[in-house]
Amino acid sequence: MHDFKYKNNELYCENVKVSTIARQVGTPCYIYSHNTLVDHFTKLQKAFAEIDPLICFAMKANDNMAVLKTLANHGAGFDIVSVGELRKVKKIKADTRKVVFASVGKTEEEIVEAIKAKILFFNVESEPELVEINRIAGKMKVKAPVALRINPDVKAATHAKITTGTLKNKFGIDLATAHAIMKNTKKYPHIKFNGIHCHIGSQIITKDPFVKALERVLEFLDDVKADGIKLEYLDIGGGLGIIYKDEKPQTADKFAKAVLPYLKKTGLRIVMEPGRFIAGNAGIFVTEALYLKDNGVKKFLIVDGGMNDLARPSLYDAYHEIVPLKKKAGKKIKMDVVGPICESGDVFAKDRALPVFKKGDLLAIMSAGAYGYVMASNYNVRGRGPEVMVKGNKFEICKKRETFNDLIRGESVPNFI
Ligand SMILES: *Cc1c(COP(=O)(O)O)cnc(C)c1O
Repeated sequence: MHDFKYKNNELYCENVKVSTIARQVGTPCYIYSHNTLVDHFTKLQKAFAEIDPLICFAMKANDNMAVLKTLANHGAGFDIVSVGELRKVKKIKADTRKVVFASVGKTEEEIVEAIKAKILFFNVESEPELVEINRIAGKMKVKAPVALRINPDVKAATHAKITTGTLKNKFGIDLATAHAIMKNTKKYPHIKFNGIHCHIGSQIITKDPFVKALERVLEFLDDVKADGIKLEYLDIGGGLGIIYKDEKPQTADKFAKAVLPYLKKTGLRIVMEPGRFIAGNAGIFVTEALYLKDNGVKKFLIVDGGMNDLARPSLYDAYHEIVPLKKKAGKKIKMDVVGPICESGDVFAKDRALPVFKKGDLLAIMSAGAYGYVMASNYNVRGRGPEVMVKGNKFEICKKRETFNDLIRGESVPNFI
């Protein structure tokens, strides 16, 4: 499943002792397993081998270039949401023709650069956006490839902040509008309508929401066919759930078994956009115990990493397993694990039974490879810690710790003050 395991009571990432890395690069830090990234990607690839889909890693989950290059080397394309992400794809010399571009707010600069990069298609999220892409493509004298992102109005049974496929969310185009667009494609002479896209949310652990969404998509595709429009691609989005605690998410194989019959029926080339499934359990966040505080009512373990480094617990009430880098004998006690940030929401775990830590002990916060570092901020003027890639018995920093000078770059006090 993943390559973070204990050997002789010490946590290892592949063949490297995690504490060796942490002592060398300092804490807090993120550590990624190359082998785990490849394993998760390959699992999906194999499960869907008979239709040979294009797997576009949703790089908003983890955009470190070492992670991207690892996946590109295995044939991954990328699902991007900004021109910055596109530039990272170019920077690692990955194939921009395997890029799909979602986002409800694409700017002209982004659209122009993506057209020039010859991306596979734009996932278009509204009619006004379609009008804008048509205008820009006309100016550039090209046809821009587009997949309409339809909103199937399906509940994904996940956290409200990561559901996207209902009409209460800002994403995608409702079916009626999408029908109207497809009936009137002549209105958009500079658009090549070549696909349909659908992404209903994240951390979805059962097949049912996917199947329900696909049923609606198939109905939609039938209507489109009846209108005489030939499409090439169906992009089924991402959203596959992973294990954070005791979830029993579908495996790649089970997911494939549930959706393959629908996908094959379309006759279209399939694109998928997994993020969390590939990166989530391929990374950990390592932090050091600073203080154990007992106020008579509660015990708090204060660590040197905070919500600015790993936002998921404070943002989504997300559960992350917390383990010591060196296994400890003895009884566990209940405590809150908190960071140093001046916010009561800066909590990694509440009333968690953990071994008794002392100052200087190292802890790993697990499943931090997706939506971890990418959401980190400099709140409280804290430089973000390094990211480290491990492969076999090798490891290397793939993003340096931010220095104070990094934090104040571009900042100045006006003369009039
Ligand atoms: C976030 C997102 C994904 C990836 O979601 P995961 O849950 O990480 O797989 C894929 N496609 C789109 C359009 C997204 O917004």
